[in-house]
Amino acid sequence: NEFEDYFLKRELLMGIFEMGYERPSPIQEEAIPIALTGSDILARAKNGTGKTAAFCIPVLEKIDNEKNAIQAVILVPTRELALQTSQVCKEIGKYLKIEVMVTTGGTSLRDDIMRLYQPVHLLVGTPGRILDLTKKGVCVLKDCNMIVLDEADKLLTPEFQVSVEEMINFIPVARQVLLFSATFPVTVKDFKDKYLPRAYVINL
Ligand code: AMP
Repeated sequence: NEFEDYFLKRELLMGIFEMGYERPSPIQEEAIPIALTGSDILARAKNGTGKTAAFCIPVLEKIDNEKNAIQAVILVPTRELALQTSQVCKEIGKYLKIEVMVTTGGTSLRDDIMRLYQPVHLLVGTPGRILDLTKKGVCVLKDCNMIVLDEADKLLTPEFQVSVEEMINFIPVARQVLLFSATFPVTVKDFKDKYLPRAYVINL
């Protein structure tokens, strides 16, 4: 397969090639076409497989930059991962005019609130802060139709699980869920049965 086979927006394809990606990695080859059809995905994938681009590419493809609303949320367990992931989105999406915002605990809530007065299409962050902003009504998820859980095994530990579920319930049920996890503990299995029962499963 080639990236050209996915009929992506030309600006997105330019960003992908500028990253130096010549062809899709195995996880990308499986996940991108399925994600583009709108199906939920549950993928067992380790770091280093190209999983970040596997979800960033369909997310960036599906966002309409002319619509001023948060259309996708990428949930991650740590600030470092939020920064890395948003960086990948910004780089791949360099030509797309998509506004990416990072939000995590341990930073100024006030700054996040101010940032949300400006357009945001894609939100990348940790569950507690996103939930906080959503409950305050500053972060509006009613037009969000994609949610990614990266490192879902870590997101579904007691520290985060309640926030994750509470947050997801602010997103309209027609949402598409993309879940990536290195391991499959019972917490991930239970979450899958509840939120993405018909997910396409990728096991590499
Ligand atoms: P990840 O598994 O998302 O942490 O990605 C691991 C590394 O692979 C990162 O440095 C990516 O930039 C790189 N990468 C992702 N997709 C591709 C691809 N299709 N071709 C070459 N490198 C890639």
